Amino acid sequence: MARIRLENVTKVYKGGVRAVSDASLEIHDKEFIVFVGPSGCGKSTTLRMIAGLEEITSGNIFIGDTYVNDLEPKDRNIAMVFQNYALYPHMSVYENMAYSLRCQKAKKEVIEEKVHKAAAILGIENLLKRTPRELSGGQRQRVALGRAIVREPSAFLFDEPLSNLDAKLRVAMRAEISKLHQDIQTTFVYVTHDQTEAMTMGDRIVVMKDGLIQQVDTPMNLYDHPGNIFVATFLGSPQMNIFEGTIVKKGEEKHFVSIDESVDIAIPEVELCQLSEDVYPLEAYLGIRPSDIKIDESGFPVEVELVERLGEQTLIYFHLGGRKEFTILSLVEPNALAKGDKIKVRFDVSKLHLFDKKTERNLSNAIPLIEMELGKAKLSEEEKAQLDKRLIGHLTPKSVVFLASEVKTEEIKGGHRFEVKIEGEKDYGDKKTYYGRDTSGIIIPFVSEKAYRKGQKVDLFVDLDNLNYADEEKQRITDDVEVDTTVYPASLDFRPRGCFLTEDELHNDEKAYKTVKAIRLGKKTLLHLEGAETHQKLLYLVESSDLIYASLPIYMRKRRKSK
Ligand code: ADP
Repeated sequence: MARIRLENVTKVYKGGVRAVSDASLEIHDKEFIVFVGPSGCGKSTTLRMIAGLEEITSGNIFIGDTYVNDLEPKDRNIAMVFQNYALYPHMSVYENMAYSLRCQKAKKEVIEEKVHKAAAILGIENLLKRTPRELSGGQRQRVALGRAIVREPSAFLFDEPLSNLDAKLRVAMRAEISKLHQDIQTTFVYVTHDQTEAMTMGDRIVVMKDGLIQQVDTPMNLYDHPGNIFVATFLGSPQMNIFEGTIVKKGEEKHFVSIDESVDIAIPEVELCQLSEDVYPLEAYLGIRPSDIKIDESGFPVEVELVERLGEQTLIYFHLGGRKEFTILSLVEPNALAKGDKIKVRFDVSKLHLFDKKTERNLSNAIPLIEMELGKAKLSEEEKAQLDKRLIGHLTPKSVVFLASEVKTEEIKGGHRFEVKIEGEKDYGDKKTYYGRDTSGIIIPFVSEKAYRKGQKVDLFVDLDNLNYADEEKQRITDDVEVDTTVYPASLDFRPRGCFLTEDELHNDEKAYKTVKAIRLGKKTLLHLEGAETHQKLLYLVESSDLIYASLPIYMRKRRKSK
């Protein structure tokens, strides 16, 4: 049992392929987390880095509280299950499962007990005497799982374990692996390119594309609140329909108007309440799932071009809104629709998804980095003093205060208090996201299980550690902890013999230092160094680089002792 933490993990293969970029993620203890994305997006590489089968270019990985970057795979106490089961062909099922325990020189009775217990969980007790040759694909997969279970690892890592099985068996094994997770209550990390596997198995899903984590959330939240166009169109079949157009002001209302102006929809106010009034007209995409388009007399006229009957569901294809692709509507009601029929279609406005055309990000639920002008931030003298202690740069009137974390509705002792007025709300799975405007005018989103009504005043709290100063270029200028020594600017030089630090004025007492902590503040990284012999502590601010990681050894020029 263990949580797994990835901090700014990057993998660049020899030859320069950047397989994973700056991945940060916390996998909870006992969680079933699924990595999904198209082929080549970096899922397997991420899994292999957790397993220790692939070296990490930069960043840190922790399993439990152990920093595992430098640990061999065998010392990480995890079990990996592959699509090719890698069973020993000459050994019986029992021996295959017992093998790792024998290698650990476990007692005979212990081996017997663990193998039988695992076999019982998997329902393969009657197969223990057979060899892998005498098993079906599904049974072999179970033996491979059994071999992992007997080791009682703190986490199971699965790399597309079902892709060799036929469709029917895949569905059955999917359910079995989910059940196994419930039975043994251990962290599962599972990689697949199959969105159905991801949606049905994961407690949470990590969607990846081009080496970048796109979004991490529960299956339903990803489906209902995709953070960008990629996630919106990757999950769900048939795909979400995406219309290109502009959001314009019409009196008090905001409307989405498609490029050919045939689709014109008033947007519910709450969808856009995080945007300032001066962004319109705003080029945007509107997304709507096939099941959220209804046949309704008040809708847009279209002509049915194709009807696909799939049993319980009928898909109706037509052209709308200047899209080259078909727009698809799905119906579960019985119908007699046919090609050539003229119908009217209405979009369910509570199910619209709006994306910024430039960034392709969701306009309504991208939780923004909250930023307040220094003068408007309403920090008390005490709070300012606290923040000043973490300051590693210089405050100017153009500096801002950043809030880089969620706010809470429960009072946090010593935390900063915001007073907000509720402007709107959105359903977000089992919880609601509310949007409150604070006294300085910024909108602060927060998640709560409690019910609030529009206009209600609410106090929100944030831990002072989550407030930071940033300079006018939005680069953070506060460290995570109090800074008790001076911070010096310096530059790093990565050479084959090691990493060298240069600074104009030398402050070091010896030559070799170790990076105790590296805190990324945007373009700059703050290095906490400690001398190998003298334990002298030094702080340096350097240009950020993928090659910086905690524990990086750093060499310096020797300082001449001043006379
Ligand atoms: P996925 O599991 O999502 O299909 P991978 O993690 O296997 O993706 O690969 C991510 C990227 O890294 C791909 O572009 C792939 O070609 C590349 N890659 C994977 N393994 C290696 C390797 N050993 N050497 C060089 N490039 C690799």
